[in-house]
Amino acid sequence: MSTTDIPFGRPWITDDERDAVMQVLNGHILTHGPNCTAFEDGFRAMMGDGHATSTSSCMASLHLCSIDLGVGPGDEVIVPAMTHVATVHAVELTGATPVFVDCELTSGNMDLDALGAAITPRTKAISVVHYAAIPCDMVRVMDIAGDIPVIEDCALALGARVDGRHVGLWGHAGCYSFYPVKHITTGEGGMLVSKNADTVARIARFRAFNVDRTHTERKIPGIYDVTGVGMNYRMSEMQAAIGCQQLKKVPDILAQRRTNFTALKAGLDAIENVRVLDSAEERLQSTHYCAVTLLEGPLAARRDDIIVALNARGIGTSVYYPHPIPRLTYYRDKYGYNPADFPGAIAISDHAIALPCGPHLDVGGMTAITAAMREIVLGLTRS
Ligand SMILES: *Cc1c(COP(=O)(O)O)cnc(C)c1O
Repeated sequence: MSTTDIPFGRPWITDDERDAVMQVLNGHILTHGPNCTAFEDGFRAMMGDGHATSTSSCMASLHLCSIDLGVGPGDEVIVPAMTHVATVHAVELTGATPVFVDCELTSGNMDLDALGAAITPRTKAISVVHYAAIPCDMVRVMDIAGDIPVIEDCALALGARVDGRHVGLWGHAGCYSFYPVKHITTGEGGMLVSKNADTVARIARFRAFNVDRTHTERKIPGIYDVTGVGMNYRMSEMQAAIGCQQLKKVPDILAQRRTNFTALKAGLDAIENVRVLDSAEERLQSTHYCAVTLLEGPLAARRDDIIVALNARGIGTSVYYPHPIPRLTYYRDKYGYNPADFPGAIAISDHAIALPCGPHLDVGGMTAITAAMREIVLGLTRS
């Protein structure tokens, strides 16, 4: 048995980022200054459309969306069962009730037939996640939602498009994460985007205490008024400076991810009872956060053994996500949990392995992962 060094994720930081941070530190504007503005403009240019404001995290962006929509006690918000807990915390914190919908087994995205059935007169908003960069069919989501506002959790879906339009620009707003293992990083950080300029302007103000003018808009320094309650969910200049440099790497990052994913999926799909989740249609353009590999038949029950064997060979893995959200202790205790409602999310949580395809790896790495998987599966089938 040979060991390799194939980590699940690794931020791509070079002298570009180091120099940019030093430039900020050698200046005197450390927060909400020109780097934040440049990062927001660059993000918007990358999407090719829409508007953007930087935030302190994706969770902050999601929370801002709930607040902006006036979500509160007595309201229901439809959320995916298969997502990061942040999607649901952002609803729970407002006092509204999350209503969980299961996912499809082909993509990990919300089952849109079940979405329609979950809508009630109390539904105040619908939150969808683009699972592991596989975009939800937003044309169908918007059609099912009608007048109900839609929030897009795009934390793992930078660059993903539906019919050519970037995710996050379909519903009320979209939320991005720059946590270290996502497509690009600022350490911690997030972006809130929308096709609607007023939505972004309103939320940008709220995320900066809701003061009525920024530093540059003030005629007399230190003088401002406040027209509503607000938060401090801003990004710092050091983070934004890193973000500007990361944006320049996006074309290379997406190209390498595509090459890696294509090779890895072809290799893994050739193994019996191993299936990689992917977009069903060309028009739903994924940017391949990782290869979510579902184990079927007799392999399903051996998931953890396979993970241990892969890790022992130096291949990093993860699980997206470890539980359907309603199975997490807090949500189970509060709302109850019926496994029969979430067969799709349970299968992915318990029988799938997230394998790396990030730009820190090349096709040689993908071949090594496929070879290790084949060997491990063969060993298990024999024993
Ligand atoms: C990582 C992740 C988040 C949380 O992002 P932070 O920037 O760490 O708050 C939210 N939603 C999804 C789908 C994620 O994968």
